[in-house]
Amino acid sequence: MACQPFVIRTTSYRHFAKRTSRLDCQQRKPRLQHRNACICSQRDEDYSVDVAVIGSGIIGLAISHVLLRLEGHRVALIDASNNLFSGATGAGQGYIWLAHRDPQSPAWELAWRSKELWRELTSPAGPLQDCYWQAKGSVLLATDSAEAEALRARAALLNASGIQAEVLEPAQAVSLEPALRLPSDGAAVLVGSDAQLDGRQAALRLLSECQSLGKKPGNEFHALFGEAVESLCEDSGGRVTGVRTSSGVTVRASRGTVVAAGAWTGRLLSEWLGDERWERAIGPRFGQLLELKPPPGMAELRSGLMESCYAKHYAEPSLARGPRHVPEGGCDITFTATTGAAGELLVGSSREFSGDDPTRLEVSARILERAAQFLPSLEGAAAAAQRAAKAGETQWIGGAVRAGPRPWAARGLPHIGPVEGRRGLYIAAGHEGSGLTLAPVTAEMMLGHLTGTRPSLSAEAIESLRPGRR
Ligand SMILES: Cc1cc2nc3c(=O)[nH]c(=O)nc-3n(C[C@H](O)[C@H](O)[C@H](O)COP(=O)(O)OP(=O)(O)OC[C@H]3O[C@@H](n4cnc5c(N)ncnc54)[C@H](O)[C@@H]3O)c2cc1C
Repeated sequence: MACQPFVIRTTSYRHFAKRTSRLDCQQRKPRLQHRNACICSQRDEDYSVDVAVIGSGIIGLAISHVLLRLEGHRVALIDASNNLFSGATGAGQGYIWLAHRDPQSPAWELAWRSKELWRELTSPAGPLQDCYWQAKGSVLLATDSAEAEALRARAALLNASGIQAEVLEPAQAVSLEPALRLPSDGAAVLVGSDAQLDGRQAALRLLSECQSLGKKPGNEFHALFGEAVESLCEDSGGRVTGVRTSSGVTVRASRGTVVAAGAWTGRLLSEWLGDERWERAIGPRFGQLLELKPPPGMAELRSGLMESCYAKHYAEPSLARGPRHVPEGGCDITFTATTGAAGELLVGSSREFSGDDPTRLEVSARILERAAQFLPSLEGAAAAAQRAAKAGETQWIGGAVRAGPRPWAARGLPHIGPVEGRRGLYIAAGHEGSGLTLAPVTAEMMLGHLTGTRPSLSAEAIESLRPGRR
């Protein structure tokens, strides 16, 4: 079957709403290369492997890759969609940031280790060398005196932890980033060590690496796309021994079954394990990111830009409420901006628990309105989007909309490890807005759980990520 890349702006949402539906790649018209990656796989009836991985987002791909690199592993990667970018991974901005995290926290330790691993993977000698890794740094932005004070305190904390963070007054920030506007009582902090990569390219490269490694003696790699996992298989002792898919394919996994189904994970586990707590522990937090050509005359961004209040998305109070308890229509917009690999401007982003079309124009218009406060060159685009929204248009046409369900988890920490009381079953999900950052360290941890190797993380960090412990 010949498959071409195709564009469906709302794939992520539709796929979320109807996770078992298959996307028919032959019916879509190819329009733009590399937007989405449509994959068809050949399949036999049943498979016997060492590890079955459910979900081919960046997390499932990284886990498959780390197992195959070790060699002597048979891996099946199973995804409900034919489109590699149907989940959150296709929407990701690709920032690998530490600047907004709290030093000494488990999240910091994870991100730090993951960044080291990304650097190795994307180095000239590494397997993912063409993923546009760029150590561009990030600039955190405070827009009033209270935020500026908090930002200065954060800079001191980062410096004390060995991360160089330079406080910039508004005029200094603008001379560093000429496209920027900051109020006179604001401030900025430059964190030079933050980096950026092309998340979509990384996913594609990981898949092709898995396919090559799968051909090595002792290895096997089976990519089953368009196969929704419907149930778990168990032996008479209650050990999980694999999965069954919507089309009746059975994948037997002798060593373990890993649920890496992003935002879908909570719902799947609550169905499979008959425990509704999972649905409250991991769920979708939809996000929209806009991709556009920089307006004429706008200076190219040298670093990634982020509102300093971004850290609120990882703080306990805003996350203490589960997906069901957030008021309908509550949509947060926090400004971020980066320059992508092809010079495109990526402007974000929204966060909302309601899944009523996260690609809608009203949200795009709000993202642009917020962005224009920091990047005045976007004022025209913001005004045009608002006019279109008032005129009843539903989709932004000034560029491309990327949307996906961030896998939200309580306390802002993913669940990584074995499921208590279910031998053979593991989870790697709940990375919210940090899945691209944390994919390599998640894979390293999962390798440790599956093979008994020790990851380079503290016992405290490993413990804090244990599934269900929050
Ligand atoms: C707008 C936006 C910007 C972001 N920016 C960044 C950033 O700059 N840096 C960063 O680190 N992170 C960022 N993120 C977060 C990051 O994209 C996610 O954390 C990450 O992609 C999650 O990966 P995942 O593999 O867990 O989930 P996903 O990519 O969602 O993959 C889950 C997969 O599971 C599959 N699946 C579901 N149900 C089944 C089933 N029953 N059977 C088989 N398969 C199934 C789905 O089809 C899907 O392919 C951003 C996210 C968004 C939305």
